[in-house]
Amino acid sequence: MSIVSVIKVDKYDTALLERAVDEHFDRLGLACDIKPDMKVLIKPNLLSARKPECVATTHPEVILAIIKKLKSLGVESVTVADSPGGPYLAANLSSVYSACGYKALEKYATLNYSTGSGKVRNENGKVIKEFDIIDPIREADYIINVAKLKTHSLTGMSGGIKNMFGAIPGLVKPEMHYRFPGIGDFSEMLIDLFETVRPNVTFIDAVVGMEGEGPNMGTPKNCGYFLASRDVYAQDAVAAGIIGIPTEKVEMIKCAEERGLFEPADTVLVGDSIECKDFLLPETDDDSYLSGVPSFMRGTLGFFAKRFLKPVPNVKKGSCVGCGKCAESCPQHIIEIKSRKARIIKKSNCISCFCCQEMCPAHSITVKRRLKR
Ligand code: SF4
Ligand code: SF4
Repeated sequence: MSIVSVIKVDKYDTALLERAVDEHFDRLGLACDIKPDMKVLIKPNLLSARKPECVATTHPEVILAIIKKLKSLGVESVTVADSPGGPYLAANLSSVYSACGYKALEKYATLNYSTGSGKVRNENGKVIKEFDIIDPIREADYIINVAKLKTHSLTGMSGGIKNMFGAIPGLVKPEMHYRFPGIGDFSEMLIDLFETVRPNVTFIDAVVGMEGEGPNMGTPKNCGYFLASRDVYAQDAVAAGIIGIPTEKVEMIKCAEERGLFEPADTVLVGDSIECKDFLLPETDDDSYLSGVPSFMRGTLGFFAKRFLKPVPNVKKGSCVGCGKCAESCPQHIIEIKSRKARIIKKSNCISCFCCQEMCPAHSITVKRRLKR
């Protein structure tokens, strides 16, 4: 049985969130896990240096409520750590903490500034058996994964499973896109990663989610939910229902189900009922680029469809500030900066991972199809 605890929380109010965290801990029996001498690690989604109201990152009030709960249980060592996009450097971590409203958490917990990482093996991995994992996660006794509910240009949605991608240090992440360019293999890699790190519990901040061009360029979507579960696969399936994306279209959930890690019939919702919030889906909404092609022609026209209908990034030169973050994160190394403007030099080599769009601070990368349907 996989319990998913659902609580309606309609705003980032400290008292409401603290009550909700208490309730999640009770329903899932989490207090029994916690020992005061444990090193507890909280892994938020800190994708990039953006304010909480941009909804790209886990809201700091959610993290604060969890820290306070841990402190009330006597835990002394609580660390907050993530590897945002871009180079994994102390200076970058500092600017992400500032922009995302996390500096205020320093009164209660340790914000990680160390940038070490090391190999962690999982002999049961299906497509990869060894990951480079950031030190605070490797060294933790207890891991609390705290995701943000968002649509995602590559994976369809970002919830608990996808949040663990931030366990991999900075620029090693584009390497993973390079090694696993197809959505199927990339999703299998994400499952291998999740099974390697195995957080003890996952919370999802869906008080206000992100719809449209997530995970960085979308718009806020009032949802009013705060979820918790020990079973991330069941929880992400519930979260997909809130977004309004069928689980068959979320490769990560399909992969987990095929591996026997998730049995939909075993999911038990505890607490409030779930309503679909009909998020706007990203322009890339995966196989939609084939939806204009009649199914009997897809085999023959596969090459044509991929070449001309596949979504690709496009740089809006007017707003580009030439910072180079897109080029740094491109696993195919096909972006160059010339005269302080980004240019994609070989679109045919693009694997549509949208790391460039994710990392652009100026919202200068949009998604377009070469041929409009
Ligand atoms: S151009 Fe952008 S979407 Fe294409 S491979 Fe590079 S980072 Fe990925
Ligand atoms: S497109 Fe965005 S990330 Fe790339 S150089 Fe321009 S502003 Fe920077």
